[in-house]
Order: sequence, then structure tokens, then C-alpha cells
Amino acid sequence: MITSPKLAELVLSYDPNANVDLLRKAYMFSIQSHSAQKRASGSPFFYHPAEVAKLLTELKLDVPTIVTGLLHDVLEDTNVSLDELRETFGSEIAFLVDGVTKLSKINYMSSKVHQAENFRKFLLATSKDIRVLLVKLMDRLHNMRTLNYIPSIEKRKEIALETLEIYAPLAERIGMSITKDEMEDVAFYNLHPTEYAAINRKLEQMRINDNEFISNTINELSRVFREAGIETEISGREKKAYSIWKKMQKCNVTLEQLNDIVAFRVIVKTIQQCYLALGVIHTNFQIMPGKFKDYISIPKLNNYRSLHTTIIGPFSQRVEIQIRTEEMHRIADDGVAAHWSYKDGNVVSDENMPRHYSLIKNLLTIIKNSNSPDDIIDNSKLGMFDDEVFCFTPTGDLISLPRGATVVDFAYEIHTNIGNTCIGGRVNGKMVPIRTVLKNGDQVDIITSPYQHPETAWKKFVVTGKAMSCINKFIKSREKSEFQSLGLSLTKYLFSKFNLQFSENSLDIKRFSCTSLQKFYYNLARGNILLTAVEMYIKSKSTDATAVLHPEETVCVMDFTPGIAVHFAECCHPILGDKIVAVLVPQRGLVVHVTNCDTEELSAYSLIGVKWNNDDEADVAFNVKLRIVMFNKAESFVTVTNIISSSGASITNISVDHRSVDFFDLLVDVTVNDPFHLGEIQAALRACGNVRSVHCL
Ligand code: MN
Repeated sequence: MITSPKLAELVLSYDPNANVDLLRKAYMFSIQSHSAQKRASGSPFFYHPAEVAKLLTELKLDVPTIVTGLLHDVLEDTNVSLDELRETFGSEIAFLVDGVTKLSKINYMSSKVHQAENFRKFLLATSKDIRVLLVKLMDRLHNMRTLNYIPSIEKRKEIALETLEIYAPLAERIGMSITKDEMEDVAFYNLHPTEYAAINRKLEQMRINDNEFISNTINELSRVFREAGIETEISGREKKAYSIWKKMQKCNVTLEQLNDIVAFRVIVKTIQQCYLALGVIHTNFQIMPGKFKDYISIPKLNNYRSLHTTIIGPFSQRVEIQIRTEEMHRIADDGVAAHWSYKDGNVVSDENMPRHYSLIKNLLTIIKNSNSPDDIIDNSKLGMFDDEVFCFTPTGDLISLPRGATVVDFAYEIHTNIGNTCIGGRVNGKMVPIRTVLKNGDQVDIITSPYQHPETAWKKFVVTGKAMSCINKFIKSREKSEFQSLGLSLTKYLFSKFNLQFSENSLDIKRFSCTSLQKFYYNLARGNILLTAVEMYIKSKSTDATAVLHPEETVCVMDFTPGIAVHFAECCHPILGDKIVAVLVPQRGLVVHVTNCDTEELSAYSLIGVKWNNDDEADVAFNVKLRIVMFNKAESFVTVTNIISSSGASITNISVDHRSVDFFDLLVDVTVNDPFHLGEIQAALRACGNVRSVHCL
């Protein structure tokens, strides 16, 4: 077992500034916490976390990760609490240990129904910090190394299968090929001992028959490179039993027929030298057609980069050659860990984005795009979340949604109020409408407006139960009170129409089978009670036969939330200042048109006098859509948006409708105060020199 000073020495070798006291403290804490426990091997339990920590130092990871390795089992296997961990080691380490613990509790082999949910949990546990996954992989690697101590063969097979289906593919997915190879090797041995032994026996046989093959080939290749003046480092590497076995199954061949069992790695200094070395190989040896692959120009999804080619080698055998730089080699072996770990004493960070975000996003892309033919995890458990998409908040938090979810669903997932006031989103930096369907890995920033509220139309495109119930709840709650107050307004309007003083007491609501005034108002506005019937009734109360319109009692449309009991007609889009009139459409409510609108709706029902509001001045905003034809110049866009926003109007949506060499058409939804405000904006736009024309749609 590794001792505390030795562990510190290992970390100091790549991070001279490492906090050695913290390492020592964690080492002691782990020993004390696990003191009474033993492993299946009979050795003290503490051997395990200490070995996991050691494996993490081989990946050159930072001190918090090494400490997490030491402490990764204390939450689950001892009575140390998360709070105690946080007090003793701080919130970062407590968070990491908690993440690893959560990961351990996920049962991947459970029924199909739970698999997607478990994967969701998995991503939630790892998405905030990829180091959680790195610790978990090293934990599993050590468990695999000590698998033979577990007495039950069934149990061993279960662990081996889970490793083969979950952990080895994950290790490969994040580019940790050495870890993957070892996990597969042990798993294969435990799951198929006969085949494992047979393949290894044959490999051994081939080595004996041809024991000089690898060294002779290396010498010959070195000579060719030396003559060409390229400095190289060459190694030969036998393929692992498991990957040979898979290839034998896939290609239906015997071991003897597989002749590229050894791959040769040529490590050079620069990318340019990679291609030079390739040229040297291709000039000196016969190449196998169709085998050349340039993963430097087009890296694999897990960031693997290398040149691959297969030649008829110096001894007339087929030989696979991989050419790469040292840096590429490191990433090929350790993958994500290589990105994370220390290099020259500094943590390597290769993106401007938060590292966790970009790494987990990468992981998602990789998992989701797993349909290339040489994909080994076709049948693994990682292909099971087709019904979900995973998106991110601007700060990198993961939000999982059902497939088909829109910007609105995302907004509701964050908070009910965000959903209720959502007017659009910025997806990966691009403005999109609220009904936009989200894709895996999208980063979504929700845009809200205090003027916004949920509409019935949203129900047609939202997919989450939460969004649906929030919209329903909002509409229901508004609906009742909006229709009630509309009914009251209509009643007052009818009273004044017949020159009567409005009085609730004089209303005989039983006549309309209503038990309360509120029900009467609601049913009237809803159209359940005919407006004409109420009109007749009120008229009958009038002593004056010649009714005169009483102008003070018309319905004020701005007392209502648009889209619930009062609607602005789609045909004529009334905006504040227009002369308006309305009709009561059964079930829908009051529909407001401009007075000269030629829709048939206005002739189908009796007209109701309406006005905008009681005051002349109102600070309620209206949405209008502008079509702006701009000159195709670099500054046009900024100029136009500046004019609109500096006028005090807000832009709620922008899209480009048509684009040509000279012009493009911009469709802009703006919120204006009144027609004069709109007129000012249009005039300013026309005057600016970047705009050819402006129309209100
Ligand atoms: Mn463990």
C-alpha cells in the first residue's frame, strides 16, 4: 500500500505547489474512518482508497481530485456525514465526494424503464465536474484489479458486465484508452474465461514463432526514418485479447487470419513531421488501399488524433502504423484527464468556456453520435436515452428535458415565473422564438418580459407536464376573474345604454338560473347567457322607450389581460389610439377590431362600444411587427437596433426574412407605447441612411 509521504512525493513531482498538508490530512482521515473495515481480500479497507488516489496521481490530477480519491468511500461506507466532510475539507472536496457517492448508487443494470432516469442521474452527478467521473473510473479500475478476491463468481460476472457495458465505454468516450483496455481485459477474463485463455494462448504461440518480429520491424522502420532525417520514437503494441475477440466476431475470421495484431506507434515532434513521416512510409513500403485515415485533420469524437496507415511491412507482413505527436499520444492514452491534468506545473485549460461545461458537452455529443460502424458500444447501455435531450443554462447547469422540448419548456424547468414571462431565448448565442425545439447540448439563455404572460396557444407546442400545468394554472386563474370583470363591464354598459343607473341589487339573476352575481357575470361574458337576452331584460326595466347611448359606460379594453377574456383581432391588429369596436364571441370573449375593419365577425354579432381606457395617457405597451429593408452594410444592423432601443421601445424578436447582395429584410417585433411613438421610430429609421424602407405589418 502506498504511504502518505510517498503519495505526497508523487503529487509534488508534477505539481510542486501542491498542498501536501491537505493530502496528509485526508490520508489520516480516511484511515481513521475506514479503520474497522476489511476488503474481500482480507486486507484493510483503506488499501482501496489509497490505491485509487495513487491511480489518480498517474493521471497527474490536482490535489482536490487526489483527496477525493482518498475519501470517495467514506460517505457510503462509514458514518462520516457530508456536513462533517464539508467542515473538514471545504465545499469543493465535499461536492466531489458527494458526486462520486451518488454515481456509485446508480444501478445501471436495472430494468429498461429506469435506465434513462439513471442515466439522467449520472449526468447530473458528473456534469458539474468531470473530476467526479475520473475518480469513479479509477475506483472501478481498482475494483477490477482486485475482482478475483470476490468469492461469488456470479457477483464477479455482474461487476464485469457492468464494467464492460458502462465504465469501459465511458472511459473510451472520454479518450482514456489505457483505462478502457485494462477494464475490458479483466472483464473479458471474468465473463468468458475459455475464450480469453484461447486467444492469449494463440498470441503466446505467435510470439514464440516470430519472437524477433516486433524488434526487427522497429529497427527497420527506424532506419528508414533516420535516412530521411526524421527523429522518431517507435514502439510496437499488441492488440488486447478483448479487441481481437470482438474483431474475430465482427469479421468472422480466425486468429491466424487477423494479421494486424501488432500496431506500431511512431511518435514525432510536430504535426508537420507526422505528414513527413507518413510520406516516408508510403514511399518505402507498399500501402494497403482503403486503410489510410487522417484523424489529425478530422479528430475522432473523443479528440483522438493520429495518422493511421497499413502497409506491407519490411518482412512482407501486414503492419498497422500510427503516427502522432507526443501531445496527441498523451491525449490518446488519458483523454479528458490529459486535458485536465498538470503540465509544466500548471493546470491545462484549453477552452474559454467553463471547463466542466465543455467537457460534459463533449461527452454528450460523443455518446449521442455513437453510430459509426466501428463503434464498440452499439449494444451497450449507453444508447438508451433517445427520448431525452440535455441542455445547459448559461452557467453550465444541466437541464434534462423530454425530446421535442421547446424554449418554453426549458424556461418553466428553471422557474415558473421565468416560464410565465418567457418571450424567447438565446440558444448557443442565437436569438430564437419561444417554440424552438431544443437539441442535445444546447446552451439556453431565456429572455423574459414583464408584459408577457402564458397563452393558450403555448399548449400546442410545450411537451413537459410542468409547462403544461403552469400554463393551464395561469390561464384558469386569470380566466375566471377576467371573464367575471368583463361580464360586470358588459352589464354596466347595457345599463347605460338604456339610460339606467347601474345597481347590482336591481338585477334578478335567478331569471338566468344563476345563484350568484359572479356566476352571472362569468356566464354572460362566456356566452353561456345570451347577451341579447340580458339586453332585453335590462331594456324592459327602462321606463324611457327611446334609449340613448351613455358614453361614460363603455368597456375599457385595457383593464383586461389580452388573450384571455379580451382579444385583439388578428385581422386588423388594433393598437392604442385606433378607433375600436368590439363583438362578444361565445366562449372566446370580447374581440376588439378597428372600427373600419371589414371582417365578417363584426356583422355576425351585435356591436359593443369599447374604448382603450379611461385616461388619455396610458403607459401600456403594444406589440407591432416592422419590416425593415436595410442596406447590406456591416453597421446597418447595429444602427437599426440602436435607433429602436434608444427610442424607449423594446425589441422582442428579430429575424432576417430575405437576404440579397444589396439588401436584407429584417422582421422586428417591437413594443411601442402608442401610434405616435411608432411614428417617431419609423421616421428615425427612414432618416438614418442605412434603411431603405420601413413598413408596419
Ligand atoms: Mn471505492
